[in-house]
Amino acid sequence: MDSVGVAAAAAPPAAGPGPAWQSKCPWGTSNTTSMSCSLADVMSEQLAKELQLEEENAAFPEVVAVAEGPFITGENIDTSSDLMLAQMLQMEFDREYDAQLRREEKKINGDSKVSISFENYRKVHPYDSDSSEDEVDWQDTRHDPYRADKPTTTPRRGFIGKGKDITTKHDEVVCGRKNTARMENFAPEFQVGDGIGMDLKLSNQVFNALKQHAYSEERRSARLHEKKEHSTAEKAVDPKTRLLLYKMVNAGMLETITGCISTGKESVVFHAYGGKSATEDKVIPPECAIKVFKTTLNEFKNRDKYIKDDYRFKDRFSKLNPRKIIRMWAEKEMHNLTRMQNAGIPCPQVVILKKHVLVMSFIGKDQIPAPKLKDVTLSSEDMKKAYYQTLNMMQQLYKECNLVHADLSEYNMLWHDGKVWLIDVSQSVEPTHPHGLEFLFRDCRNVAQFFQKGGVAEAVNERELFNAVSGLNITADNEVDFQAEIEALEKMNEDHVQNHGKKLSTFSSDGDPPIYDE
Ligand code: ADP
Ligand code: MN
Repeated sequence: MDSVGVAAAAAPPAAGPGPAWQSKCPWGTSNTTSMSCSLADVMSEQLAKELQLEEENAAFPEVVAVAEGPFITGENIDTSSDLMLAQMLQMEFDREYDAQLRREEKKINGDSKVSISFENYRKVHPYDSDSSEDEVDWQDTRHDPYRADKPTTTPRRGFIGKGKDITTKHDEVVCGRKNTARMENFAPEFQVGDGIGMDLKLSNQVFNALKQHAYSEERRSARLHEKKEHSTAEKAVDPKTRLLLYKMVNAGMLETITGCISTGKESVVFHAYGGKSATEDKVIPPECAIKVFKTTLNEFKNRDKYIKDDYRFKDRFSKLNPRKIIRMWAEKEMHNLTRMQNAGIPCPQVVILKKHVLVMSFIGKDQIPAPKLKDVTLSSEDMKKAYYQTLNMMQQLYKECNLVHADLSEYNMLWHDGKVWLIDVSQSVEPTHPHGLEFLFRDCRNVAQFFQKGGVAEAVNERELFNAVSGLNITADNEVDFQAEIEALEKMNEDHVQNHGKKLSTFSSDGDPPIYDE
């Protein structure tokens, strides 16, 4: 056991709860450590910050309100940028401070069996901090495999033993031990060090002070959490995303972010007016759509099947944490859009990708997005036109882009400028994906049904459409057999992968598919 550790751990009972509680440090003051700034400094700095904020709130209420809002617009950019900049600097400072703290903590603890935690000195509260990119944040922090055994309980009568050996529940040693063990009931984020598993005796006074502190921290965290949840409900974005968007506006790439077009399970889409490009050769469209992939992870877990088996991403998938996987969705959408753009398929043009935020050209005009096919009423002539165009696009997508949309329906097709535009391709896969043909068949079913119901007499059924798009010649005349053949083909391809270590470049086809023309 190292001497510093002992001193620090032993300090509170002697010092009493008063100062320890006030300084928010259950283990006494940090004078034993060689931190670059003392706790008093930290506290007074915080106080100063609070006072300053209060002052700012009183002096420029409207400015602060704007900076807190979800959108960053050209009009308020000048006034809010100082505050935003200050916040950025503060964030940076806090992060550096915490990093330094962690180094100190490591140095002090060394290989000692007893370690002390500086967690409570940290500037960035654990709830706010996601600076560590490698964190897995759907982990259940409540489950603790190292949970210490509970100490034996005192029976109802309040004592154990007989005669001279009687121990009451007020016994200092028993009580102290029990207090130590009860620390595990504090919120999981509340750092109590390694004391739980050890024979530590905490005085009631110290324990109560700690308990108070833990509860107030828990409430604080809950408040913060609530605030965050609330802000997403209001279609705003989390602070980090806001910062990303702010940087884009600040760099002049975007002129104004005007508002939200759509809030889906997996993404939020904003409209923005384009700004100026840093490079001459790249022109930023006058209107842009910003797709922010949601960083709440739950919805993405069930999308694993699309990306996990996509060999383009296979090597990387296993090593990634959820946050990076979400970025990969955005990256996938970008790559797929680029392929489509190159093939001349009407689709949004990629402007820029930053982490989980994809900026692309806006399909629509004057802030009004083009309607989805499901929402627009087309003349029968336009409907027929839309059908043939869709058929063509599906073939192009398959043949030229080597892609299957995998979520194609009237929900992801927009009607703009007298033609159909394809969007939402983050989940698109290559046809040789283990489930690629099944996805294609599903797409075909959606498309065929939509146009058949829409009164297009020429619209073929899903099986014919599938053959027309893929160039395969599956002859089954009913859905069950047809799907069985599809799955057999997929299996054949998978076996080929197993045996040869690589996929077939394409599925064998009986000649070129007929290219449908208007
Ligand atoms: P999700 O995965 O949430 O369905 P989408 O990419 O389909 O994401 O976008 C959601 C909605 O946002 C679309 O239905 C469409 O109305 C709108 N949208 C997305 N991208 C654009 C764009 N480039 N231009 C205009 N509207 C868009
Ligand atoms: Mn969609």
